[in-house]
Amino acid sequence: MRIATGGISHETSTFAPTPTTRREFENGIGFFRGGDILARFCGANNCTGGFITGADRHGYELVPLLWTFAYPGGLIPRADYDALKAEFLDGLKKALPVDGVLLDLHGAMVVEGIDDGEGDFIAAVRRVVGQKCPIVATFDLHGNHTQARIDAADAVIGFDTYPHVDMADRGVEAADLIVRIIRGEVRPVTAFRDLPLFWSAACQVTGHPPIDEAFRLVHEVERRPGILSVTLATGFPWADVPHMGASVIVVADKDAGLARKTADEIGDWVWARRERWHRKPLTIDEALGQQATRFPVMLADMADNTGGGAPGDSTEVLRTFVERDLRNALILYLVDPDVAQQAHAAGVGKRIHVDLGGKSHPMQGTPVPLDVEVVALSDGKFTYDGPMYGGLTGDLGTSAWLRQRGVNVVVVSARMQPLDQAFARALGIDCAGMEYIAVKSAVHFRSGFERIAGAIHNIDAQAIHTHDFGRLPYRQRRKPMFPLDGK
Ligand SMILES: [Zn+2]
Repeated sequence: MRIATGGISHETSTFAPTPTTRREFENGIGFFRGGDILARFCGANNCTGGFITGADRHGYELVPLLWTFAYPGGLIPRADYDALKAEFLDGLKKALPVDGVLLDLHGAMVVEGIDDGEGDFIAAVRRVVGQKCPIVATFDLHGNHTQARIDAADAVIGFDTYPHVDMADRGVEAADLIVRIIRGEVRPVTAFRDLPLFWSAACQVTGHPPIDEAFRLVHEVERRPGILSVTLATGFPWADVPHMGASVIVVADKDAGLARKTADEIGDWVWARRERWHRKPLTIDEALGQQATRFPVMLADMADNTGGGAPGDSTEVLRTFVERDLRNALILYLVDPDVAQQAHAAGVGKRIHVDLGGKSHPMQGTPVPLDVEVVALSDGKFTYDGPMYGGLTGDLGTSAWLRQRGVNVVVVSARMQPLDQAFARALGIDCAGMEYIAVKSAVHFRSGFERIAGAIHNIDAQAIHTHDFGRLPYRQRRKPMFPLDGK
C-alpha cells in the first residue's frame, strides 16, 4: 500500500500588511521535500508525524512529496502559490500509482484571486489521482471551511484542541481512516454545516469552559455507531472571505442521512449557545488593575498575536509597562529587526538608545524611545521544550534581551509566538521569577506557560488584529454574522 503525503499550509490574515511569498514558505516553519519530510517529522507532534506513526502501525509506504508551512501572515501572491502547487502536483504525478493521499493542511489559506485556498488545492490533487483514490486531509481548529473542499476530499479531520497539542493524534486518526477506506472496510460520506458565527479566542481554550462542553459533545458523538469522525472548527475571523466562520463536519460510514442529521444536531447545539462563545477581552489598564495574588501575571496581547499573522511590533503594552515603571516585567517577543541589529552591533553590557516597535503599520502604535542595557544576544535558533512543539527547532532570527529599569523585552527578527519558555531560558531569563509577562500570542502560549502563571488575562491592546471586530474593514464576509450583526 502506497500513500502519498505533503501539503501547503498557511493561515492567511487578509488584514495583515505584508504578503506571504514563496520566501516566507521557504523561511517559515519548514520547507521539505521527499525523504527530508520523514526525517524531520518522525516522532514530531504534527499531523505528518501522525502519518508516519500510521505507516509503522499499518505497514503502508508513505511517499513524501512537498511539505511547507509559512508562518501566518498576509495574502499569498497567486504566482507563488501556483509554483508551490505545481511542484506538489508534479511530484504526485511522478509518484503514481498511489493507493491514497494524506494531506497536512491548515484550512484558512487565502490566495490572491482564490478565496478557498484548500478547496483549490484538494481539487487539483483530485484531478491528478482520479475519483477512486481516497484523499484524507487534516486541518487546524481555525479553518474557514467550504463545501468545495469537503466535496474534493473523501474525508477531512480537524484538530480538537487549542493550544493545538493533538496534531499528531489527528494525523494518526487520518492514517487509520485512510487505511480502512483503502481496504474497503468503510465508505465515508461527509456532511458540512457552516455556521454564521465565529468564536472569540478567549472562549476557545479547549481545556476550559465554555468550549470544553462543545468538545465533550463532539467526542460523545464520535463514539456513536456509524460515525467515523466529527470536526468542530471555530473559524478564523481575520480572513475577509465569504466563507469565514465556524463549521461542523461529520464523516459517517455510508449513511449520508446520518452524517447530515448529526452535523445539524451539533450545528444547532452550537448556534443555540452562540452567546457563550464570546467574551470581551480586558484593556491593558483593566488587566493591570486586577488584584494579583500570585505572580507571574500573564497578559495575552491577543490583538498582536504573531501566530495569527499580526506583525508583533505593537507598542501599547510596552509603553504602559514603561509608564507604570513595573519592577519585573517581560515582553515576549517584540518584532523589530533593526533594533535587534543595533543591539548586536553594540554588544552585551552596553547601553543604547532605541526606538522600539511600532514600525509596521499605523494601527500598531508608534515606536517607544528607550535607553536600554543589552543583557544578552542570540542568533535566534533554539529547540522548543514545551508540550506543543517540543523537540522541533525554532528560528527567531537576530535577537536580543534588552532592559530598561524593571522592564525587559526580548526583541526578535522573525514573527513567532512564544509557545514555551525555551527561548527565554536560552537567553538567561527566568520567566517564573517575573511579575508580569506579556506575550504576542492569543492562546498557544498557555501550552508552555500555564503551569507557571499566577493568572492569565486576555487583553485587547491597540494592534491590527483587534478583537473589537466591528473595527475591522470587512468587505466580503457573510451578513448577518454573529456577533457582528446582532443576534
Ligand atoms: Zn490554529
